[in-house]
Amino acid sequence: MPLTHVHLRKLFIDFWKKRDHKESPPIPLVPQNDPTTLFTGSGMQPLVPYLLGEPHPQGNKLYNIQPCFRSQDIDEVGDNRHTTFFEMMGNWSLGDYFKKEQLAWFWQFLTEVVKLPKEKLYVSVFAGTKELSPDEESFEIWKKLGVSEEKIFNYGPEKNWWSRAGAPKSMPAGEPGGPDSEVFFEFIHIPHNPQYGKTCHPNCDCGRFLEIGNSVFMQYKKNSDGSFSELPKKNVDFGGGMERILAVSNNNPDVFLTSLYQSIISAVEKVSNKTYSGETNKQKIRIIADHLKTASSLINIDVVPSNKERGYFLRRLLRRISVKMLQLKGETVQAEDLIPAVKAIIDIYKDVYFVDSDIKKIQPVIEEEINRFNKTLKDGLKILEKIDKPSGKQVFDLYQSYGFPMELTQELLKEKGFNIDKKEFEKEFEKHKNLSRTSSSGMFKGGLADHSEQTIKYHTVTHLLHQALFDVIGESVRQEGSNITGERLRFDFYSINKPTSEQIKEIEKIINDKIKEKIAVNFKIISKEETLKLGARSFFREKYPDMVKVYFVGNYSKEFCDGPHVKNTSEIGKIEIYKFEKIGSNLYRVYTK
Ligand code: ATP
Ligand code: MG
Repeated sequence: MPLTHVHLRKLFIDFWKKRDHKESPPIPLVPQNDPTTLFTGSGMQPLVPYLLGEPHPQGNKLYNIQPCFRSQDIDEVGDNRHTTFFEMMGNWSLGDYFKKEQLAWFWQFLTEVVKLPKEKLYVSVFAGTKELSPDEESFEIWKKLGVSEEKIFNYGPEKNWWSRAGAPKSMPAGEPGGPDSEVFFEFIHIPHNPQYGKTCHPNCDCGRFLEIGNSVFMQYKKNSDGSFSELPKKNVDFGGGMERILAVSNNNPDVFLTSLYQSIISAVEKVSNKTYSGETNKQKIRIIADHLKTASSLINIDVVPSNKERGYFLRRLLRRISVKMLQLKGETVQAEDLIPAVKAIIDIYKDVYFVDSDIKKIQPVIEEEINRFNKTLKDGLKILEKIDKPSGKQVFDLYQSYGFPMELTQELLKEKGFNIDKKEFEKEFEKHKNLSRTSSSGMFKGGLADHSEQTIKYHTVTHLLHQALFDVIGESVRQEGSNITGERLRFDFYSINKPTSEQIKEIEKIINDKIKEKIAVNFKIISKEETLKLGARSFFREKYPDMVKVYFVGNYSKEFCDGPHVKNTSEIGKIEIYKFEKIGSNLYRVYTK
């Protein structure tokens, strides 16, 4: 029997629990209150402050399974191993254990728990540079674990180095970084030949190997003279894709043939009347299955299709599904017919990311977006068919009149053999002030940017506002969500009583008073029960672990929160509630700047 995702999830969790690790709860696909990123793209993303030295409420040994959306991988989807949505299984040591334990544990997990045949595993280690020595320590550890030397490959910083800035050369002074060590699975065995390493090796894309996980060792700090010194507190950051570990456990390099996709693919086969075979069909079915999964996950956490940022990605995913369905089946597919595939997705992640009733939320959004696009799809394709010299204007018209996202047109033109210059098209979109979505292009990197001073201030205002709302409007107040940019704070809440404009004024005054009072802000790490007893404010949508961080604004506000916050309310400066509106039944929204 092949291993299923349900089983693998449990094996991974049990493995780390037994080794005294605590769960660092995964965050949503769209990070809360982080204006620097659109989506969560790795398990490490929310852990950056802790990797940089802040104490983690759960301690120094952590694990989790983090759902990820890598919008930047969208063009890779269609191959055997890339998906825009995937789950990253991760574990971390924050200044606790290091290479010896990490490599031995991951090896043990792969060979004893998942029971992969040892002879099929290859590893890589850092080869060093002029300034940095090779990672001989990891090399020796792998050898001791029984990996033969010919299966240990040395790569330079382009493959086996991690820092937020990339290569050692690009790192600013003070920045941490270090070597990493990856594990690969070999599907088609080719006997060792010293010559062979030159043409095919673990990092080759020919399909012989699949990368399944990466242990990053945060070992060094860059000095201002360009040299590196050892960090006093070294960390481990491990990430491995669940889809890929399942695939190798089945000895099949196709992640779409695992239990995480099979029922979705069957549903797509059924609507399209095509089978999952042959590269062209497979590529389309993979894209449809992946994009439906990501779209359902985004809709479920309140992303709606739109012309910018997150909503634009969702729109692109859904419209690309329409096109791929049409190409696959030869005729337009109604969104209703895709619902069984969505139900299969909900079933796969039931009680992890979805409950059955989520279909009520997801279905209407998918139907509305896809069916609306379907109305113009065929006419748009006809126009596209006639293009023999693509111009920015044509691409823009296809977007404006037929709803074809620029990237989709680009892809379709490419299929026709046109290699188009995206810059020229962007110019055309810019002319029409329709490029708002690329204004978010700096936000793909994945939460690794620093929090700006202004957003930190707004974080603290959120706590003051939450408490003031509670005090003025009453105990039914409950936070429904918040969103911070460098310019403003938006805060949604539930309340039985409709706040009056006098009350809003009063709330604004309380917050400004608290700012004037120069109150110290600090945090404590305490158990969840104790925190609840203290009556700390919480955000009910969040899943809290056993030990939590609680921020105190003097004795005015206490709230479950990971931070960061200002050290004293005086840093905030005067605030203004400049907009207040009703957004639903018993739901209200305030804007503060
Ligand atoms: P690749 O080179 O295959 O794109 P990566 O170097 O981008 O992988 P990392 O950023 O090191 O991968 O992420 C850690 C792990 O997450 C990988 O070892 C892989 O198992 C998994 N992973 C990364 N990107 C994807 C993806 N698009 N789809 C599925 N799994 C992925
Ligand atoms: Mg990648």
